[in-house]
Amino acid sequence: MSNLLQGKNVVIMGVANERSIAWGITKSLHNAGANLIFTNRQERSHQKLVKLLEQNDIEPKLVVSCDVASDESIQEAFQEIKEKVGVIHGLVHSVAFAKREELKGEYADTSRDGFLIAQEISAYSLVAVTKAAKELMTEGGSIVTQSYLGSERVIPNYNVMGVAKASLEASVRYLAEDVGKYDIRVNAISAGPIRTLSAKGVSGFNEKANVIVEKAPLRRNVDQDQVGDATLFFISDLSRGVTGEVLHVDSGFHIIG
Ligand code: NDP
Repeated sequence: MSNLLQGKNVVIMGVANERSIAWGITKSLHNAGANLIFTNRQERSHQKLVKLLEQNDIEPKLVVSCDVASDESIQEAFQEIKEKVGVIHGLVHSVAFAKREELKGEYADTSRDGFLIAQEISAYSLVAVTKAAKELMTEGGSIVTQSYLGSERVIPNYNVMGVAKASLEASVRYLAEDVGKYDIRVNAISAGPIRTLSAKGVSGFNEKANVIVEKAPLRRNVDQDQVGDATLFFISDLSRGVTGEVLHVDSGFHIIG
């Protein structure tokens, strides 16, 4: 797999620290020879990313700031990527946000504002970055986002984020149809629970992880590296016949009734 992505430029959005799913993805894509471009929102994440890259001897092609809540910020980020990198072949969207108070109790109590923020950052952002990225994918490309089973089933406390993930997965299908004619593919990975900064915001993480060990066919939890390798499959030509798909990387948990 060492040269699967040789010469390919891939943008990774969403490394906050070494536990981030996007960091597992970074390692897989780097090992496959990709040139990596990163985007961060918070300065704190930027500093953590730079340190991690140094520690792991990964030379980024570019690191730019991007807040997906702002059209201007997205436009500026992709403009800078266009100027400094030119053509891109892949985009990893590993970004989500919901207010902490919406990730517990009853979904019926979701506020209007909380609903809109979750949709904006966790689902609409894929639409906005696809629009920006497709202009740079002049040689075809692959876009991968991160979803969760809460989009299909009621998972306690996941609430407003489950509805945002349903919207994200529907967007994957509509976007796949739009950009397929440019030889750009759009897919999602639906990962099992992984202990990250974002996962801590959802009440009852331990219960979710324990039930995987108890009930999933593989009887173990997944990790960032497994999601990284599945993302590598989607970003590379190995998956050239696949688009509009949601691939479960969850030890098979989703097939159990
Ligand atoms: P992290 O907290 O490590 O990553 C979340 C990222 O989202 C951060 O890098 C954060 O950037 C970014 N982000 C939030 N708001 C914005 C914004 N307005 N603009 C730009 N970036 C933003 O958690 P995960 O790695 O767990 O999350 C990555 C993805 O994986 C999410 O979509 C999540 O829903 C999904 N997922 C997670 C699972 C899990 O159990 N952990 C399971 C299945 C899916 P910053 O730090 O700069 O704010």
